[in-house]
Order: sequence, then C-alpha cells, then structure tokens
Amino acid sequence: MARPSTGTLTPWGPEKKLRWFLNQKIQRSYHDDVLVRLKALRLEGFQTEQYGALTLDPEKFPVYALRVTAPSRSKPTVLITGGVHGYETSGVKGALQFLENHATDYAAHFNLVVFPCVSPWSYETVNRLDPIMENPNREFKAEGKAEESRLVMQYLAGLNQEFDGHIDLHETTDSDRVFLPEEYSKNGLALEAKDVDIPDGFYLIGQKGFVRAELEKSMLDSVRAVSHVAKANAQGMILDNPITTEGMIHIEIPGCSMGVTQAASRLGAYTTEMYPDSPRFQGMTQAQVEKLCSDTQVACVRGALDFWIKH
Ligand SMILES: [Zn+2]
Repeated sequence: MARPSTGTLTPWGPEKKLRWFLNQKIQRSYHDDVLVRLKALRLEGFQTEQYGALTLDPEKFPVYALRVTAPSRSKPTVLITGGVHGYETSGVKGALQFLENHATDYAAHFNLVVFPCVSPWSYETVNRLDPIMENPNREFKAEGKAEESRLVMQYLAGLNQEFDGHIDLHETTDSDRVFLPEEYSKNGLALEAKDVDIPDGFYLIGQKGFVRAELEKSMLDSVRAVSHVAKANAQGMILDNPITTEGMIHIEIPGCSMGVTQAASRLGAYTTEMYPDSPRFQGMTQAQVEKLCSDTQVACVRGALDFWIKH
C-alpha cells in the first residue's frame, strides 16, 4: 500500500523479471511450517483438498483448502484466506492457528472454507510477488496473471457456494519499504521508500461503499484485547485514505482477494493488516512476535464470527 506514483519508468521485461526470480533465495520451509501442520490436523466435519500446485514445482508447492464437508443451507458460508502475500507470516500462521484451535467450534455456526497459504513459493522466499513477479492480491480477476489467485478462483467456482463473509489475513511490514518500490518499478512506476506509509499498529481494510460500523467495531475491539490498533496520521489518514473509525479504512482495490466473492455485499469482506515490526514489540523474540501477530489475526477473525453469530 502506498501513495500513487507520479514518475514513470520502463516496465520490466521478461529477462529482467527472470533475473529477479533467479536471485530469490529459499528462507524457510513451506513443508515444515505449513504442510506438516496441515497433515497433523484432525478436524471433525472438515475435509482437506488439494486444489492445485504451482507449476514452478508441483511436488514442492501443492496448495490446500479445508472446508466443512457437509455445508448446511441454513448457515452462512465464510471464507478465510492466509498467505495471499506469502511474506506476511501471521496471515499463514494465523490461519493455521485458527484451524487448530477454533475451526471445529465455529463449524457449528458456519460453513467454513479456509486457505491457509495461497502463495507457497512467496512464503518460502519471503516475497510479496510470485515467481513471475505478479502480485496475487491484484490478480483475483478474469485473465488474472497470478497462478496462485487463479487456482483459488477455480476451486471456489467448483464449490458452487455463495459466500457470505470473507476475512483475508495480511500484514503491513517494514520490508514494504523494499517490496513496494520494487513492485512499482516492475510496473514502470516510481516510488521511493520514504513515501511508503507504514502505520504503527493493526488496521482493517473494507471495501469502499460497504461500511458496517458494528461489525467493524467487534473485529477491532477483539484485536485491541491482544494488540494495538493503528492511529491515523495528522491528516486523519491511513495509507492516504481517510479513516472511517480508528484503524479502519474502506477502499477499492481492483483484483484484490477480498473482492473474490460477493461477501462484501452480504455479511462483509475484509483485509486485515497486522504490523509485526512495531517498536512496541522490541525486546520480544521473533517467535513471541509471530505468536502475538497470529493471535491478533485469530482475534480479528473471531471478532467477525462472534458478531455474525449474535446478529
Ligand atoms: Zn498483504
């Protein structure tokens, strides 16, 4: 997320993108961090389905969704997605933690469909973009160029279910000062690191035109019990957008994951943004910060689900 760029450069061609790809290094294991945890899950009433694999290395990067085996027409259907941006660790670990600790309880009330890690290569290499330098969170659209997003869309279409709610788990990180200028440059746009807005704290993005004050309060209050929510800047903005309430903006992002279903016009569709690099977390170990961030993601999801149960 950043302000629009004014400068124009030459968009990167295939050779430059390939050179970028070849420079990326594996930094952590999708198998160990995600697949092992998925395999250990024994969720009653759920089934795990492989909905595809990245063509880059299908053996290494199979992708999975978990869903309630026998969805009921009388229950709302809710989608939870993690790892659309692979580098955003608590999106993936938050989704896994939700599955491990809460999914079976909430399955009494909802037809849940959960994608714990949409972009496994980007998880391993700690990247925002995918192997061909596409941003999966802008490619949830017809003719979308990111395979990760296309596979999710194909799977959802095959389910033939209407989605009522969607929470997409993300982070805003200090590394966005590197990733966003890189992404802009690839697209032929100039952006300087100093112009990347990184709010200190959790915030929530809703779709423009769909303000749901009570639901959003429930989600943010649930977050506040675990971690701090971002304050707006002096102009009352987060990411150059006026806040609706503290920690809440509503914007239009074409091709983004939270728009993949009709959920925004039904119960609600939201993108969470956790900030793992907050100065407030100084002195904590990396594992402690990861846990806090995952706890926060889970709290936000539960804030929405608990609200929907009551209303
Ligand atoms: Zn993200």
